[in-house]
Amino acid sequence: MTRGQDKVQPDWHKGLAILGGGLAGSEAALTAARLGLSVTLVDMKPGQRSPAHSQAYFAELVCSNSLKSKRPDTAQGLLKEELTSLGSSLIALAHDHALPAGGSLAVDRENFSAAVTQSLKDHPGIRILEERVEDLQPWLQAYAAVIVATGPLTSGPLYQNIQEMTGGEGLHFFDAVAPIVEADSIDREKSFFASRYDKGGPDYLNCPLTQEEYLAFRQALMEADKAAIQDFDAVYFKDCLPIEVLASRGEDTMRYGPLRPVGLIDPKTGKRPYACLQLRQEDKEAAMWSLVGCQTRLTFPEQRRVFGLIPALGQAHFLRYGVMHRNSFIQAPLVLKQGFQSRMEDRLFFAGQLSGLEGYVEAIASGHMAAIQASAHALGLTGEEGAAFLPPQETMMGALAAWVTQAPAQDYQPMNANFGLLPLDQLGQKIKKKERGTIRQARSAQAMQGVLARIRHFFMGEAAHD
Ligand SMILES: Cc1cc2nc3c(=O)[nH]c(=O)nc-3n(C[C@H](O)[C@H](O)[C@H](O)COP(=O)(O)OP(=O)(O)OC[C@H]3O[C@@H](n4cnc5c(N)ncnc54)[C@H](O)[C@@H]3O)c2cc1C
Repeated sequence: MTRGQDKVQPDWHKGLAILGGGLAGSEAALTAARLGLSVTLVDMKPGQRSPAHSQAYFAELVCSNSLKSKRPDTAQGLLKEELTSLGSSLIALAHDHALPAGGSLAVDRENFSAAVTQSLKDHPGIRILEERVEDLQPWLQAYAAVIVATGPLTSGPLYQNIQEMTGGEGLHFFDAVAPIVEADSIDREKSFFASRYDKGGPDYLNCPLTQEEYLAFRQALMEADKAAIQDFDAVYFKDCLPIEVLASRGEDTMRYGPLRPVGLIDPKTGKRPYACLQLRQEDKEAAMWSLVGCQTRLTFPEQRRVFGLIPALGQAHFLRYGVMHRNSFIQAPLVLKQGFQSRMEDRLFFAGQLSGLEGYVEAIASGHMAAIQASAHALGLTGEEGAAFLPPQETMMGALAAWVTQAPAQDYQPMNANFGLLPLDQLGQKIKKKERGTIRQARSAQAMQGVLARIRHFFMGEAAHD
């Protein structure tokens, strides 16, 4: 499986078409071009923009300017370290345009996106077409492989077209996500396992509140800072109200809604609590728990502060924050096989938020991996052969790639990088928390070395060392 020193002919149609020049599409274009593929990058910018995009540049950060933690003992930090080890262009440019932000990688958003745009324009293996894509077929017919990376705001005819291409039910749409917290950070002294009226097993982790605690929580919800909401969002909210809106509707509205205590007895008091928030298990290892009914548009720091007023969540570590916005994504476990490749059409790949991952760096990671897989396909490898270039599941990148194909298909939701996805964490308490970080990093570094060697061997003809 060695490609040696073959040069790809300068024929755009033998290479990749990448639809969407956001974080995923830009990383995909630069990655594939570096591997020697010719890349046609298509975006409707600058002539047309989605309601969330305001810049003319590619790789726009639509909201926060933070690419989250740099520390390699965090899931986000490890993900960035792995991307760096594979030579990610966008992570390198983010470091070039970093701002002081403690342990986080925050960037000067305009300079970062301008630098990415310049790199794309300067690369001789990349051509940029300004076009609003409405139909995938012409691209699939004309190019060796196509990556769709049009993001969470994909709408209109393209949205319909992807839905048709993925079997009608493939494209899911949701408008609200409740926060998810890490299991280890929930105070077990202040919570209890039970299902309402003891129906089924004791599957929920219940967080009781006294009247005083409930009223303080309600007040804080109403007063908290909310993320700016744009016109395009509003129409999606009528059937799925944020918790802070419920709070503002009346003192008892939440107690008759998501915080209702009926059917629950707190074993500590032997009584029904005044109010009770239920946490629902999110993954098979029970490492992640979502706050039932707490979809919210509070800002991320306010989510930490306000939900922290619930006694059991005083020290909660948020794995994913609640968000409310349009979010188009494919039901990846049904639509994709490994390597972000469509089950229905081998030339078709998905990347970014549309592929069912959540977050800036996750979009970059999926763009990087999809580019390698699509490039391998364009050069004649089968999906199984291309899988040799996928990071294994003990890496953060590999765990994300596995999530999109192996997660439960029912109620599939996009996922952030988090340690609950790593097989190591299935060992749970057996390994001390402090040692876990070191083990994760060492495993990841070793695995990434192997992946990089295989990529270089095939695409660049370098001698294999593993
Ligand atoms: C409002 C909002 C706020 C978010 N805030 C954050 C945050 O703070 N932190 C975080 O980590 N994640 C956030 N996310 C989630 C996610 O990380 C971002 O959406 C991220 O930008 C996804 O990257 P992407 O490459 O998949 O899509 P995008 O970055 O959205 O890129 C898609 C590109 O495709 C182009 N495009 C779209 N449709 C077409 C078409 N039909 N034809 C041609 N081109 C098209 C667009 O112009 C755009 O350039 C947010 C998402 C939204 C919607």
